[in-house]
Amino acid sequence: MDSKEENKLPVLFIGHGSPMNAIEENEFSKTWKKIGSELPLPKAILCISAHWFINELAVTAMEKPKTIYDFYGFPKELYEIKYPAHGSPEFAKETSELLIDENAKLDMDWGLDHGTWSVLCRMFPDAKIPTYQLSINYAMPPKYHFEIGRKIKALRSRGVLIIGSGNIVHNLRMMKFDNAPYDWAQDFDYNSKRLIEKREFESLIEYSNLGKEVQLSIPTPDHYYPLLYVLGCVSKDEEIKFFTEKIDLSSISMRSLIIG
Ligand code: ZN
Repeated sequence: MDSKEENKLPVLFIGHGSPMNAIEENEFSKTWKKIGSELPLPKAILCISAHWFINELAVTAMEKPKTIYDFYGFPKELYEIKYPAHGSPEFAKETSELLIDENAKLDMDWGLDHGTWSVLCRMFPDAKIPTYQLSINYAMPPKYHFEIGRKIKALRSRGVLIIGSGNIVHNLRMMKFDNAPYDWAQDFDYNSKRLIEKREFESLIEYSNLGKEVQLSIPTPDHYYPLLYVLGCVSKDEEIKFFTEKIDLSSISMRSLIIG
């Protein structure tokens, strides 16, 4: 391992769940805060959020990304949160150059959606680290998302903290407020954990073959794909640790990973 490798930052997948985690003191928000305080200080943060799911590949490149309130019917308090981190036009450009074969465009319109800020307002509450996002091109197959992860992995050694923000199991239609997890949600979540531990990433890429729980666990892939980017950033023999291993609201897996 050369010194460049030793200096590289970890990569994280965060199960973000409800936007309320941005304002509620709970086991998820407390853990995000703790993890943020323990991480080496990154030069920039690149977030791949489930909530920027569009039909092209784009990197936010503005100096001052706006806070986006991409949810409905939540308390006023949530719409008052601002996450005023600057963007990083420099790292955005560098990222788009790594993705030149995919025609990644520089975007000046999006900003930071709640997949990004609901987590970062806990991890890095002072919003001092330049933050930018990479879109998820929904027109592309699962393998593509893993391969993009492979290509942006080099940013870890450049001081960029890469975070995938989604949920491995995410079924909003089946949510229950008594919180009792469905068997299918627990089974799929546990099976995913085992596959990650065994580094059977091909099986996770070909997730549609993962049995009868798939339809209910991943009714749409927006919240699952961020995991594939993160797995693409993993180097051989890196340690993978799990946290917030819990099913919330019966049908949302909060399972999160830190690698490296
Ligand atoms: Zn979400």
